[in-house]
Amino acid sequence: MRGSEEYIKRELVSCVRTLFSKGYVSSGGGNHSVRLGDESRERTRIWITPSGYPRSHLTLDDLVLIDIEGNVLKGDLRPSIEVPFHTEIYRVRDDVNAVSHTHSPYSHALIQTLDIVEVEGHKGIFRLDDARLRLPLGIPPPLSKILILEYRQLGSRALAKLVGEAFTTYLTNIVVLLDHGVIGIGRCIHEAIFYVQMLEEWARCITISYRL
Ligand SMILES: [Zn+2]
Repeated sequence: MRGSEEYIKRELVSCVRTLFSKGYVSSGGGNHSVRLGDESRERTRIWITPSGYPRSHLTLDDLVLIDIEGNVLKGDLRPSIEVPFHTEIYRVRDDVNAVSHTHSPYSHALIQTLDIVEVEGHKGIFRLDDARLRLPLGIPPPLSKILILEYRQLGSRALAKLVGEAFTTYLTNIVVLLDHGVIGIGRCIHEAIFYVQMLEEWARCITISYRL
């Protein structure tokens, strides 16, 4: 049934397999999660993808249930090493129920080459430098608040803290992690991957424009 726990888990697995088949992540790469329920007690439960498990064969039984502190409540596999930034996002953004982290190649590569400027008062958080950007295609409106974050160690509290700060700074739905990948968030997993996919589509179009 739409909206049930089973349904939400099935949609999560389906989206992860799609992202893998489209080349957004390698077999064991990226991580994705959904938050359950609307009541405050229930909202502390999160289903997350396991660490390093092949995305091509992911099933509902492979997902891991954690609480907002990152404790494992259910599941046979180890949860993603990026539990800290997933839980941090849910802690700071009450409107968010899904997080999708990929290593989208075009998005990642393009952003590394663009001029960026640090957001005042937020060390390590950058935005595109509009004054210096010379792009063949404008930025689609849903991506206008994109932020870019300085590298932090994978799975670290430092990364989680910076990610949480970025998602509350501009209330953006998409950030790029330099030398790492992309994070999209939304009210459901489909909205989260919408931002990830739109960024990749835009980055591919710009790459093709440069080639032409
Ligand atoms: Zn990653």
